[in-house]
Amino acid sequence: MDRILRAISADGFVKIAAVSSRDMTEEARQIHRTLPVVTAAMGRTMAAVSIMSNAMKFEGASLTARINGGGPVGTILVTGDEKGNVRAYVQNPHVDLPLKPDGHLNVGGAVGTNGMLTVMRDMGSGEPYNGSVELVSGEIAEDFTKYFFVSDQVPSACGLGVLVDTDQSVKAAGGYVVQLMPGAPADIADKLERNIRRVGPVTGALTSGSLEDLIYGVLEGFEPEILEEDPVCYKCYCSREKINDAIAGIDRSELRTMLEEDKRIEVRCRYCGKVYTFTDKDFEL
Ligand SMILES: [Zn+2]
Repeated sequence: MDRILRAISADGFVKIAAVSSRDMTEEARQIHRTLPVVTAAMGRTMAAVSIMSNAMKFEGASLTARINGGGPVGTILVTGDEKGNVRAYVQNPHVDLPLKPDGHLNVGGAVGTNGMLTVMRDMGSGEPYNGSVELVSGEIAEDFTKYFFVSDQVPSACGLGVLVDTDQSVKAAGGYVVQLMPGAPADIADKLERNIRRVGPVTGALTSGSLEDLIYGVLEGFEPEILEEDPVCYKCYCSREKINDAIAGIDRSELRTMLEEDKRIEVRCRYCGKVYTFTDKDFEL
């Protein structure tokens, strides 16, 4: 089961949130039939959005990250609810690129670097809040780290990872975001950096140990206390009513022509793949 843990250092200067997101990433892979490099790009984004949206805590709030770096994968769109449950969409799921010389998936090459990471926070009422940054590497974690620093003005370190198995299923996925609180002593950042290097890639830590181990590794020497645990999953909020509302926005004569030609309208939810069918009986034409 996927879950998010939140912890804080004994001195209160370092906060960490970490997610294990294998199940939701595998579900997204099956819905969108993504190839490995796209599974990795999408899954890293899902881990970041799950952590960020889980921090919102307002009933009905949501957070959406949109990434488009001009690479072959096109747009990645991930939305999370206030509990950290997420849904994902990718424009081109079937991108296939050779591995990088170090044997890793070429996520940066698939995403591209010529574009933006935009984060939209909707508190459930009032105007949504948007922030965006230019992509750094398209490798996702560096891009979110820049976002936290530039847009949220919080010095952070972020690790995100997806490990794809030989049969293309998701073997491990997850991530963490570490944030320094105002007034943190200067040597803390160096100490954290050493810890992060020692822990290594997220998926390695999550395959050899637990989510708790990942947190204790990143915050080694900081005596972290785990404050919260939330279960998270892949969750879509589409409904027949919502799709119907969207269709109702189509021009009447256009709608009539569509129904005359095909006798029905089929709409596939872009997040979960569910197909909704409407006929002329559903509309007053
Ligand atoms: Zn849906």
